[in-house]
Amino acid sequence: MAKVALATLGCKVNQYETQVLRERLVQAGFREVPFKEKADFYIINTCSVTERADHKSEELIKAVKKNGSTAHLIVTGCYAEVEKDKLRKRFPQIDLVVGNEEKLKIPHIITEANKNLTNTKPLIQTFYNHNRAFVKIEDGCNQFCSYCRVPYVRGAEIKSRDPHEVLKEVEGLILNGFKEIVLVGVNLALYGRDLDPSISLVDLLRRMQYLEETTRVRLSSLEPHLLPPGLIDLMSNCRLICAHLHLPLQSGDPEILQRMGRRYTPHQYRRLVENIKKMIPSVAITTDVMVGFPGETQKQFLNTYHFLREIGFSRLHTFRFSPRIETRAYSIQPRVEEKVKKERSKCLRELGENLAQNFASRFLGDTLRVLVEEKVDRKTGLFSGYTDNYIRVSFKGGRELKNKLVMVRLVGANQGQVRGQVEKVLSC
Ligand code: SF4
Repeated sequence: MAKVALATLGCKVNQYETQVLRERLVQAGFREVPFKEKADFYIINTCSVTERADHKSEELIKAVKKNGSTAHLIVTGCYAEVEKDKLRKRFPQIDLVVGNEEKLKIPHIITEANKNLTNTKPLIQTFYNHNRAFVKIEDGCNQFCSYCRVPYVRGAEIKSRDPHEVLKEVEGLILNGFKEIVLVGVNLALYGRDLDPSISLVDLLRRMQYLEETTRVRLSSLEPHLLPPGLIDLMSNCRLICAHLHLPLQSGDPEILQRMGRRYTPHQYRRLVENIKKMIPSVAITTDVMVGFPGETQKQFLNTYHFLREIGFSRLHTFRFSPRIETRAYSIQPRVEEKVKKERSKCLRELGENLAQNFASRFLGDTLRVLVEEKVDRKTGLFSGYTDNYIRVSFKGGRELKNKLVMVRLVGANQGQVRGQVEKVLSC
């Protein structure tokens, strides 16, 4: 039996696509082995959102070379999409570079058109190593923010999956025991606009509402200015959708936001969050924030810092600006020194830790729904899982709790650790 090893970098969309590849390869008779082990085929699904992601992609390619085997190496994903020629020249050990469009055909390529693999549409039923499953429903982004390479590597055309197909996939995952489905897309908020007749993310979620007794659905990143009308209303009225929204902010300074090509002001963002909080008081708002956009002054950085504190995000994901050659921001001067970017990034990471602690503390004494993860912490012997509003909580319990939805009372929050007690098991 031929062995295949897969490695993935980057976003949830990439992770989903690797999963599709994995499932098809297993169906076609391949055996999956860990990436560090000897395999016949190595597939690397790369990312290119920042220079760091490029670097990590190259490190993975080099690691395969170090194995010294005669294995075949296939490189795909966003870095492969934009740097095909460079990769071929620099790493002669690569057998095949496959762009994003062709990615899902890799199993066909390496199994010589196996009959079981004639369908190029993804439809997955199992999701290895996770107790929540990602389902990709949309691809493409047409927003062209000035720093972002995504529309160039993923395409500017919106491609949404048929809602029936999405539901079939979700039902399959639930039958396989998954209790949390994460809907992902390159620009999720644009889901359905390209379909005929067009629908919205809200329409899709309404069609999923019958699953609410046994499952919960989490939405991945949504662009704040594109939030589909009716979404917050639906979220406030149904248990299916987790009270958690990831709304990328990027900067709290109006001028920087404008230069980034973001289509909202801090004022509009603030109003949006205030309305959401009014309708869903327990909601977690998480965000991405970028430091060191060209020309970002200390004052503008501090505007971002204060804005983040004022909004009270429950979690921050901080990036450093990284010049991507095809983007408009590539030529904006002056660039911020790397040292300054690192300092700003560190400062926001510390703020993020405080904000997370403040958010969790608000719910001490409350009983919240948690999906129990498979792994037990070896040191403490505790189980853990995320609440609907994305607080990670640890608690005592027996093996029978694994992969169950349970109600947990939050009893303590200290130095980033939240403790709880299981009060009730919700599902079997
Ligand atoms: S919305 Fe902007 S940042 Fe997000 S993927 Fe599209 S272009 Fe990139």
